[in-house]
Amino acid sequence: SKRAVWGPLVGAVDQGTSSTRFLVFNSKTAELLSHHQVEIKQEFPREGWVEQDPKEILHSVYECIEKTCEKLGQLNIDISNIKAIGVSNQRETTVVWDKITGEPLYNAVVWLDLRTQSTVESLSKRIPGNNNFVKSKTGLPLSTYFSAVKLHWLLDNVRKVQKAVEDKRALFGTIDSWLIWSLTGGVSGGVHCTDVTNASRTMLFNIHSLEWDKQLCDFFGIPMEILPNVRSSSEIYGLMKAGALEGVPISGCLGDQSAALVGQMCFQTGQAKNTYGTGCFLLCNTGHKCVFSDHGLLTTVAYKLGRDKPVYYALEGSVAIAGAVVRWLRDNLGIIKTSEEIEKLAKEVGTSYGCYFVPAFSGLYAPYWEPSARGIICGLTQFTNKCHIAFAALEAVCFQTREILDAMNRDCGIPLSHLQVDGGMTSNNILMQLQADILCIPVVKPSMPETTALGAAMVAGAAEGVNVWSLEPEDLSAVTMERFEPQINAEESEIRYSTWKKAVMKSMGWVT
Ligand code: ADP
Repeated sequence: SKRAVWGPLVGAVDQGTSSTRFLVFNSKTAELLSHHQVEIKQEFPREGWVEQDPKEILHSVYECIEKTCEKLGQLNIDISNIKAIGVSNQRETTVVWDKITGEPLYNAVVWLDLRTQSTVESLSKRIPGNNNFVKSKTGLPLSTYFSAVKLHWLLDNVRKVQKAVEDKRALFGTIDSWLIWSLTGGVSGGVHCTDVTNASRTMLFNIHSLEWDKQLCDFFGIPMEILPNVRSSSEIYGLMKAGALEGVPISGCLGDQSAALVGQMCFQTGQAKNTYGTGCFLLCNTGHKCVFSDHGLLTTVAYKLGRDKPVYYALEGSVAIAGAVVRWLRDNLGIIKTSEEIEKLAKEVGTSYGCYFVPAFSGLYAPYWEPSARGIICGLTQFTNKCHIAFAALEAVCFQTREILDAMNRDCGIPLSHLQVDGGMTSNNILMQLQADILCIPVVKPSMPETTALGAAMVAGAAEGVNVWSLEPEDLSAVTMERFEPQINAEESEIRYSTWKKAVMKSMGWVT
């Protein structure tokens, strides 16, 4: 006998830097019914380079879908109740593939990758100081972080990519485009599209006109015919072409940080969330207005929930390394076997004992945008042990958040009264308490932590032609929250924060 499901279901692909997940939600209650997760490999072929295999990413999506459907079967839930699928993805990561063979022409160049540092330096010289058209059109500082320079590098250095462009066989996309094209049929009719949020991270997209920008494409040397069609974040792009969910519409697409903003229900101007994954990203909804920061924050598209719906913008504080520092302690130093173990080490000491860890592995993002920075661990004594280093790593995530929150408060004028959080690292209670202590405001975490996937599911379910999810605010009040109140005094927190800033200064200028 089938278990009674009293509402249509919606699936979400959450393709992150660390892992891929597929999750299925009840569209009436937002209850998470089942999910499956697979870790994704990262390759570091040279110092500063970070790559992933686009086919491994695609296969992980299929695997997560199949396994989740099996689990639903074991729960006696009929998968024919799944009415739509949303996609949320790591942003900026760049793929070029051949539309005739369906094969990627190079590994995916991951957002954290630094190979384009010299490209960025030479391009910067060509931007007039009194007319930074890149910043005013895209909301972004010229940096290795965004897709345009990665794509520029591929066009310059990879013969297979050059050849495919000449032969009119090349397609470019961020991970969302690669997945949607593949899932909707690939070589036999795959839909080549992206949504406004992902497009806004390429540095080729005009965030005012919501179109690819000819001047930017010329500046970065990008042929416009390889770019995907830009759609809203909530509409039917195409149908699943294979697998257990064949025929189900893919009807939602949001970059992961936008998805978390939606999943945290930050629909009002001034509402903000901070997501702790591989990196850490604080987004504040600024409504229909494009707000430009004076303090190192990005201006980005938050979402556009339907073809005829208005666009919403966000201010974003981006931190490159958050959870990645925990993965580094696991994989490179080997002082923990699983990410969760860091909590045990940190708890043993309860302080870093004066040790500060600036994990500037990929330079520093907001608010510094300093590509010359590299990671440092300082303040070491004979007494320092691995537990102190583990503690300092967690504290680093909190200090970096404090820096972007300070910038946000200065740009917005109205300080946040509490911080809404989510992401893989937020299962770490020591981290959450430390964060409240260092910010001196409460940290608030939804009891259902998969807000990125929830956001993708919501917009997929709400799309025209699907209409199984209502985004009305009254539906959303039932979310239960966990709160972490600050426990140390503001003065102590201030002293630690100012020592952190001293350490940050020491991390700069390592690469020239
Ligand atoms: P992404 O969306 O970038 O793939 P996730 O939100 O899945 O990232 O979070 C995964 C990251 O969080 C990894 O870098 C992992 O090391 C870190 N992480 C997971 N659990 C914990 C934990 N209990 N304590 C600290 N870090 C953790």
